[in-house]
Amino acid sequence: MARVIAIANQKGGVGKTTTAINLSACLAEKNKKVLAVDIDPQGNTTSGLGINKHSLKNTIYQMMIGECTLQDCLIKTSFDNLYLLPSNVNLAGAEIELIGINEREYILKHHIEKIKDDYDFIIIDCPPSLNTLTVNAMTTADTVLVPIQCEFYALEGLTQLMHTIELVKKRLNPGLRMEGVVFTMFDARTNLSLQVVENVKENLNQNIYKTIIPRNVRLAEAPSHGLPINIYDPKSSGAEGYRQLAEEVIDNDEAEKYEKEKLLRKK
Ligand code: ADP
Ligand code: MG
Repeated sequence: MARVIAIANQKGGVGKTTTAINLSACLAEKNKKVLAVDIDPQGNTTSGLGINKHSLKNTIYQMMIGECTLQDCLIKTSFDNLYLLPSNVNLAGAEIELIGINEREYILKHHIEKIKDDYDFIIIDCPPSLNTLTVNAMTTADTVLVPIQCEFYALEGLTQLMHTIELVKKRLNPGLRMEGVVFTMFDARTNLSLQVVENVKENLNQNIYKTIIPRNVRLAEAPSHGLPINIYDPKSSGAEGYRQLAEEVIDNDEAEKYEKEKLLRKK
């Protein structure tokens, strides 16, 4: 059964989409079957994986408002093992259209539950706010992965994010856990990046990924070619970073599954 990871941080520009695209692609490269779910109206995960978001008849928006099924909008990308639920600007209207709909926090979950067994990992790219779409992602997820940009205001907003995760856990998804924090856009030439990492480690009582994603211009260029970093520039520091992150995510998943089995055998 897939591990469902929501990539969330209500701040824009911290590396959510870059992480969603490249973690998905690097997991797929390691022979994991991956579904990337774009639940951001900006549709940057969709275009970053080489899909023309403007020409789509069915997207996650039509799925969420009940006009199409998951299979209707599911896309097999041109990369092995990598599938996509695409999004575009239409989704911006969903927030309002979903008002008053019964159990609207569970809409995505109900769709994903049916196909959870078909994948190893499902990676959800959230919008830069704590709205209904993000809550849908967190209600569907097993874990939340929080990218933190190595900049002066890194800690700002994190208290609110953790509070939202706790609320979702309490009211909507009791099984929700923190996948952990991953630092992005690390610049080894500046003291600031190092200070941010130290500061966040001291202040956040969270699982923090050993992998730190470097600032790498190839990561910023890749989406305009519709390619993930492992294809666009397989030897870049960015590709190395996301491959290493994928390995850590797989290790975590396997370790957890092993512990679960051990518990079951004891019972
Ligand atoms: P978010 O989805 O959180 O808004 P993005 O992933 O879109 O953030 O990243 C914001 C901008 O920073 C984008 O232009 C992206 O290409 C760039 N970027 C993200 N991560 C890196 C990195 N490690 N090195 C260089 N540029 C990056
Ligand atoms: Mg984004």
